[in-house]
Amino acid sequence: MQYSEIVETYEKIEATSKRLEMTDYLVELLHRVPREIIDKVIYLTQGKLYPDYYGVELGLAEKMAIRALSMASGLSTKEIEEIYNKTGDLGKTTENVLTKRRTKTLTEFLNVKKEKEKLTVLEVYSTLERIAKATGPGAQDTKIKLLASLLRKASPKEGKYIMRTITGKLRLGIADMTIIDAMAIAYGKTKDAKPIIERAYNLTSDLGEVAKVLVEKGLDEVRRIKITVGRPIRPMLAERLSTAEEILEKLGGKCSAEYKYDGERIQAHKNGENITLYSRRLENITHHYPDICKIIVERVKAEKAIIEGECVAINPETGELLPFQELMHRRRKYGVEEAMEKYPTAFFPFDILYVDGEDFTVKPYLDRRKKLREIIEENDRIKISKSKIVDNTKDLEEFFLEAIEDGCEGLVCKSINLDSTYQAGARGWLWIKYKREYKSEMTDTVDLVVVGAFWGRGRRAGTYGALLMAAYDEETDTFKTICKVGSGFTDEDLKKLPEILKSYEMEHIHPRVDSKMEADVWFTPGLVLEIIGAEITLSPLHTCGLNKIKEGVGLAIRFPRFTGKIRDDKKPEDATTVKEIIEMYKGQLKKAA
Ligand code: ATP
Repeated sequence: MQYSEIVETYEKIEATSKRLEMTDYLVELLHRVPREIIDKVIYLTQGKLYPDYYGVELGLAEKMAIRALSMASGLSTKEIEEIYNKTGDLGKTTENVLTKRRTKTLTEFLNVKKEKEKLTVLEVYSTLERIAKATGPGAQDTKIKLLASLLRKASPKEGKYIMRTITGKLRLGIADMTIIDAMAIAYGKTKDAKPIIERAYNLTSDLGEVAKVLVEKGLDEVRRIKITVGRPIRPMLAERLSTAEEILEKLGGKCSAEYKYDGERIQAHKNGENITLYSRRLENITHHYPDICKIIVERVKAEKAIIEGECVAINPETGELLPFQELMHRRRKYGVEEAMEKYPTAFFPFDILYVDGEDFTVKPYLDRRKKLREIIEENDRIKISKSKIVDNTKDLEEFFLEAIEDGCEGLVCKSINLDSTYQAGARGWLWIKYKREYKSEMTDTVDLVVVGAFWGRGRRAGTYGALLMAAYDEETDTFKTICKVGSGFTDEDLKKLPEILKSYEMEHIHPRVDSKMEADVWFTPGLVLEIIGAEITLSPLHTCGLNKIKEGVGLAIRFPRFTGKIRDDKKPEDATTVKEIIEMYKGQLKKAA
């Protein structure tokens, strides 16, 4: 098949804005594609060479592409750049340049003509593939030469699309769903072809492969396509609503609310000791998280499984969740081992799609959660997402605030009805996210009183992992809790603080301390520390500002951190007051509005 045939279709598609017309053009094209290359035509039309999860990237740098065009056309890179500056589109620039290309000799002219006739889909595909795969020393030169050779043979229009494809900017504006529509019409023959093709795509994330099976073996065989461990499944996504009432109503009055962890979504494929991790966009991110791979091998009690969850940066000594940004340190090619030590993570599985030969995507939510609990042996680094079945707005709101305070983004509320299957590749109402409308920053530090402590883990075993902090309430002359702080302490602080705190230790909670939390150790209010946090948020767990903003809830500091300053110049009564905290909270709201 000639590449020009595809290009003609692309031209027509580009000229229309109507989806139905686009589909018709695609159908026409698909009718003409020989079966052996159907997968390649599909990939090319998606602007790629393989499904994304193969990790073969197009996206040649524009500078290099321009050098190749210069080689192929005889125009200088400067001349080409001038045209590019005017058009702003490398595809159009190429078309323009190839129209006025300078051929130097008659033989070259004849060669160009002769070669041009031979530009087939296969040749374009395999040359692009060689360009994408060239590595090592001299790879740049090889890529440029290969592209130049292709452009020499290309007509101006072909050149336009080759150039867009190789720079990763094909952008025909055809969604995968339009290609699926066209496939269903061209090859499906029956009305239910579309959902069958769609499901196969959602389970394999490989439209070229699905097309190949469809063309070579028929729709029945597509229906038989199953989940394969190692091949990513297109993720299920959530809708969004902004009030607890709306959410409960939409989910039939009752749902499972889960913490919405603020990390990176991971789809983990376990095949014995072999683990592959895919991102939300289904890129292979296995090498970012060797620690998560290890924990899955050790703690997932199934030979083969596909589990989805969120990976979050944590403070291993306290178990606190850290902000999303901390995870960014893992996005690197080199030094992952070192980053792993410095920025530890935990994995919070929230769904299970496959276990030892059984497809769990077709089972209801509660069955999937049950299976998850059966096969996962939890520890500090792998914990099933925190969840709660709720049937009233009060409980839902309280759980939401708890999630925020614990460092999460909010909740994902999930249907627990019998039809609550895992809908791969779909954004639907079976999952509804509940996030806050605003985000604001806490700019000032506060001075808080240590009133209790919790035992630590790991490196902090035997000493305190986190301290319970309180603000001073002038009205009642008591200390009201506002956060648990475990971050910001140096090794030296960790040695020094228990020694200082020893003299404040008590058998029970101090009568002037007002706390809903049960600390492991209680102290007489005395020591004042300087604390900074991300923001002040409503909280069902703390007593600071209780009932002042909202009935039944108080205020808390999110992501609190010790600044390193012990305020021994301050008495506990000089600490930041509850009134000041309430003012700060109101100020934040104003700033965010
Ligand atoms: P957002 O930007 O809000 O994360 P999104 O478009 O990436 O949205 P959504 O489907 O809208 O994705 O929201 C769900 C996302 O929340 C998931 O992709 C996942 O990464 C994350 N998440 C965290 N905790 C959970 C959980 N318990 N269940 C489902 N998804 C969760």
